[in-house]
Formats: sequence, C-alpha cells, structure tokens
Amino acid sequence: MRAKADRDACIGAGVCTTYTNLFAIDDDDGKVRVTSEREIQPDEIDDVEDAVAMCPVVALSLVDDHTGGSGDGAAATSEKGT
Ligand code: SF4
Repeated sequence: MRAKADRDACIGAGVCTTYTNLFAIDDDDGKVRVTSEREIQPDEIDDVEDAVAMCPVVALSLVDDHTGGSGDGAAATSEKGT
C-alpha cells in the first residue's frame, strides 16, 4: 500500500500533515506532496488512513501495489495529473 496525492485537488489545508509525515506541504506552491513513495508500514497505516479520511477535498488515496486499486478506507481519486 502506497500513499497518493492529487495536488490539483489539494487546497493546502494541511490537515493530513498532522497525522503522518508521509504528507507535507510543499514550500513552493503550498500544496501537499507525498514525502516517500515507499510501502506504508503496518504500524503507520492507521495514521495514514486517518489522514486520507480527514482531507476536506478528498485529495488523498491509498493504492494497493498488488491490485492497483484503492485500499480500504481510501478515497477514490484520480491519479496525479499530467
Ligand atoms: S488535508 Fe487534503 S487539502 Fe489539506 S493539505 Fe492534505 S491533501 Fe491538501
């Protein structure tokens, strides 16, 4: 499971960054960025799922490496834009 962010949808509210350091606000444009493309570890999945769930514009999602689809609790969002 990996974290994805739709930067076009993000409004920079910063809520997600209070749950996990996998998400941070980019200094250049004030929008979210995923700090690591690594596999989410079991001990951090709850915090990442909370961050995904709390985003006010549903800009975050979790992608299952095995199926390519969204995981449990993940918001259905489009992949990163062009
Ligand atoms: S909570 Fe959503 S809108 Fe706020 S910074 Fe994170 S991705 Fe962007």
